Amino acid sequence: MDVRVADRTRQRARPAPTVFVRTLGCKVNRTESEQIAAALIGEGAVLGPEEEASVVIINTCTVTGEADRKARKAVRHALGAASSPVVVVTGCLAALDAEGLESLGGRVVVEPDKERVGARVSALLDVQDSPRGAVVRHGEAFRIRAGVKVEDGCDAFCAYCIVPFARGTPRSVSLRNVLSEVRALVASGTAEVVLTGINIGRYSSDGRGLAGLVEAVAGTGVRRIRISSVEPLDLTEELLGVFAATPQLCRHLHVPLQSGSDAVLASMERGYTSEEYRKRIALVRDRIADVAITTDVMVGFPGESAQDFEDTLELTREIGFTRLHVFRYSKREGTAAAAMPFQVAPEESARRARVLRGQDRHLRATYAALRRGQEAELLVEEVSNGVAGRVAVGTTGDYLRASIGADDVAPGDLLRVRLGDEVCGVLVAERL
Ligand code: SF4
Repeated sequence: MDVRVADRTRQRARPAPTVFVRTLGCKVNRTESEQIAAALIGEGAVLGPEEEASVVIINTCTVTGEADRKARKAVRHALGAASSPVVVVTGCLAALDAEGLESLGGRVVVEPDKERVGARVSALLDVQDSPRGAVVRHGEAFRIRAGVKVEDGCDAFCAYCIVPFARGTPRSVSLRNVLSEVRALVASGTAEVVLTGINIGRYSSDGRGLAGLVEAVAGTGVRRIRISSVEPLDLTEELLGVFAATPQLCRHLHVPLQSGSDAVLASMERGYTSEEYRKRIALVRDRIADVAITTDVMVGFPGESAQDFEDTLELTREIGFTRLHVFRYSKREGTAAAAMPFQVAPEESARRARVLRGQDRHLRATYAALRRGQEAELLVEEVSNGVAGRVAVGTTGDYLRASIGADDVAPGDLLRVRLGDEVCGVLVAERL
């Protein structure tokens, strides 16, 4: 289906065509959307509101049934925009259900391959003749903490997960490309890079794994590095050794657990037991002082008994995570779990999620209380006018949101602060 936008652009006095990018799903999706947006700015497009856009790009997720529903809703919403845009749909749902998405409207263009989205949109916008060269993610549209995608795909095939089907086998961004992107971001003022991937422990390039990658990135002079998420079995002595020896590395690790029950972990095909998980976290804490551990936990997996759920509650309490991301199991056709018996009733799954989110609030409050009065390194991300003057808000190395009252700070500043009381999920701090 050939949908031309150039004609309408040429009829008007050729203002730079406007593009709107909507991102659903994970950090990797967010980083990919930023890369697509930066490339289009380099081609002469501008980012603008959806209702004025010539092209709307929707980067979809398909990790749950709810994610699919949100993606279709976003496509319909874009089709209804006043500017009658072409809607380019990419991402994981586009990889698995292109026909279904195309059937939503004649102006829908499905491009599952994110690498090709920029070129498809440029062709639609006919912007080739005003190139301004590659643009780094810098400025209002991009954040002080920039995700750097280093790996894509996964071959773990956890029983509940559709991602390996949508994103394919593991493949790494070459070390050279990662370093040149990090250097460009550093040169443009980015203070923290978040190394992202679908299964980052699978990273392999130039004879280096994840540990070697982190070492190389630290060598670029970037002020702060964060690892987005790492599977428990990838927490090797080598990685922890590099971690402990690299001061730029944020003292925070996100290590998905998914369940505290050995029976559930086995049927999820996670590849570890609760005891192995415990041991990995103990090793992390032994090698890295003051590290904050956050995690993903799923409830309602087929066959999860009341006792299994209690095991999950008990293990998350025992480990003392600083934050839990709680997910409800969502049946994904094509995954091993979709065919499993003893699907947990939706009301019971919802109840378990509520209980675990309560536990999350308790764990966050416990950690905030523990940190009160202690020092932290705050990366300022936003500065705004509050009732009592200018307020700077940002993220600490150990992944807490904190604010300080300060007139002379700017986004990107790294400050030593003393943490105080928590107010609405943000710790009020004072500058040291
Ligand atoms: S490790 Fe498991 S949960 Fe994570 S993307 Fe791979 S299959 Fe999915």
